[in-house]
Amino acid sequence: MGRFAPSPTGPLHLGSLVAAVGSYLFARAAGGRWHVRVDDLDPPRVVAGAADTQLAALEAYGLHWDGEVVYQSERTEAYRAALEGLAAAGHTFPCACSRSDVAAAGGRYPGTCRNGLLPGRTARSVRLRVPVEPVCFTDLLCGPQGHDLDTEGGDFVVLRADGPVAYPLAVVVDDRAIGVTQVVRGGDLLAATGRQVWLYRCLGLEPPTYGHLPVVATAAGAKLSKGSGAAPIPLTSPGREQTLHAALTLLGAAEPAVGAATAAEQLAAALARFDPGRIPTSGARVPTPPGAATVE
Ligand SMILES: [Zn+2]
Repeated sequence: MGRFAPSPTGPLHLGSLVAAVGSYLFARAAGGRWHVRVDDLDPPRVVAGAADTQLAALEAYGLHWDGEVVYQSERTEAYRAALEGLAAAGHTFPCACSRSDVAAAGGRYPGTCRNGLLPGRTARSVRLRVPVEPVCFTDLLCGPQGHDLDTEGGDFVVLRADGPVAYPLAVVVDDRAIGVTQVVRGGDLLAATGRQVWLYRCLGLEPPTYGHLPVVATAAGAKLSKGSGAAPIPLTSPGREQTLHAALTLLGAAEPAVGAATAAEQLAAALARFDPGRIPTSGARVPTPPGAATVE
């Protein structure tokens, strides 16, 4: 079972469409279910109406999901229960340190509160203890990975000083609740995966398999994102069909020519011939659709 989990910070762009289509093809080609979750955990970043716009875009591209859409903003109780479980098992500790304290220590949490708060200090956040040895897993597309959490930031925050549960814990709790067995998403999230695998292990759970897709970049080499000014994907013909063809090309799953195929026909054809081994890994350059891209 797979999923697509956009943050509702604006309309979907080509990079997010590639993640949506990639996760859809992986799940459906294996005969599995495909879910959609709205990652609206961080209220200041949420743009009103963006989630509905994103869901309408998925529908317009024929990307129909199973079950109800899950909203992270409605999952607070589940996150609290997971935090209590981690605390009871001794995996977490209260921390009084600020971001500037950690920055002053060179960006790696120095373990100040690991063995209890120093006298006179008040807890701001909750951190998870990380192992000394690297966290290893094998990515479906990127191969064997070893993430050294101890040197890459050290013990990390699972409950933020400003209130919300931290993103890695929310993702793990939600993927588990939905029953996700395979996470396929943009390659920019590969570096964050070691923390999520470690959280699964702390919770006594088997992690899903992970597959990280090529990062879609602008011609100038910047990651395609709302921040880099990526255009919203068009929702009507012929732009929609051209954009889907571009996304499928980035996934090695496009028919040679767009022709007159509708979005639904393109998706069905891509599903029939989907082969993860054809997903380009580096340096591929694709024909230029609106808002065009290369793969890095
Ligand atoms: Zn601390």
